[in-house]
Amino acid sequence: MKVHEYQAKDILAKYGVAVQRGVVATTADEAVRAAESLNKETGTDLFVVKAQIHAGGRGKGGGVKLAKSFDDVREKADAILGMMLKTPQTGPEGQKVRSVLIADAVDIAKEFYLGITLDRGRNQTVIMASTEGGVEIETVAEESPELILKEWVDPVIGLQGFQARRLAFGLGFEGDAFKKAVRFILALHRAYEESDCSIAEINPLTLTEQGDVLAIDAKINLDDNALYRHKDLAQLRDVNEEDPLEVEAAEHHLNYVKLDGNVGCMVNGAGLAMATMDIIKLAGGEPANFLDVGGGANPATVEAGFRIILKDPEVKAILVNIFGGIVRCDRVAKGVVEAAGKVDMKLPLIVRLQGTNAEEGKAILDESGLEVQTAILFQEAADKVQSALEG
Ligand code: GDP
Ligand code: MN
Repeated sequence: MKVHEYQAKDILAKYGVAVQRGVVATTADEAVRAAESLNKETGTDLFVVKAQIHAGGRGKGGGVKLAKSFDDVREKADAILGMMLKTPQTGPEGQKVRSVLIADAVDIAKEFYLGITLDRGRNQTVIMASTEGGVEIETVAEESPELILKEWVDPVIGLQGFQARRLAFGLGFEGDAFKKAVRFILALHRAYEESDCSIAEINPLTLTEQGDVLAIDAKINLDDNALYRHKDLAQLRDVNEEDPLEVEAAEHHLNYVKLDGNVGCMVNGAGLAMATMDIIKLAGGEPANFLDVGGGANPATVEAGFRIILKDPEVKAILVNIFGGIVRCDRVAKGVVEAAGKVDMKLPLIVRLQGTNAEEGKAILDESGLEVQTAILFQEAADKVQSALEG
């Protein structure tokens, strides 16, 4: 789950990570009041107005603006709120801005990159740091990987002080700022661990003209599988930023990912779902989604799956691919018949059943009176998808 920058900064501040001060606002009036309260608190009269969307690269898209007065804050907030902000990380149509963060502008002396994530190759948390802050770290990784410093965290003994010092030293910090950078790295790592993040990324981390080490941007992704033990963090979900079909699927406990293709699919098991997406491609189509209905492919889940797939206007055909291991194919077939009747299925429907009671399941579908094409073999299913697409 992704959270907004202002939420990420709130989380980090609780762990003692030094973050730029800021207040979130949803209207231009609120933005001015936010600026006034920052001014009272810190004496600042230079602000940054920052679009809050779940995508990076906002600066490039015009979603981050300096403001020199309260009037300027009003003007910039007014312009940014409600805009469709396009960044390299949004879709081509952009993402609607519903809130802005009004922050106390920082005098930047130097920008750095600091990120923590899981290194799946090593089964360890990796902390990455670079003097090339502010720019896209992917570009740095590609063009000059030697500029990225890395420390891996041993899961048994945890992050060691010397590792944080090695990173801070490698970034060129000295004196008091060195100590602040070490504290920053240790605190960020603790926040990452204790909040069950999958990513905690500060780009840029800044050394200010005043000698402080401060995050002026913060990106946190939380591990969905651990959200059950962070009720407070789970509440930070902003469904406006998520695909509406994915939100609906989550309500039905369906493992669904929206894609851009023309063949909807419903499968039990993530591995089989991946393989099904491959056969859709082999058949000349493009998967419209990933959908794993899990072990219990009952009529209710199948119906919810159909409804979600049918709401996607790009879908031209649906392939259901079920392996009867624990679940029996005849039960699934009954579920498909029941669900297809309820949702008023108008698209070509191809159902492949394999495993326990596959033949019985196929017979149920064939005799159902539904316009459904059945298959036992993968290849048959692919051929039927292909002819459905051709016309
Ligand atoms: P992103 O574009 O979505 O990654 O948003 P950031 O929060 O990283 O802001 C983009 C850029 O705006 C930063 O890399 C900075 O160069 C600039 N910026 C943001 N906040 C400040 C600030 O407080 N002071 C100054 N001088 N520049 C800022
Ligand atoms: Mn950034």
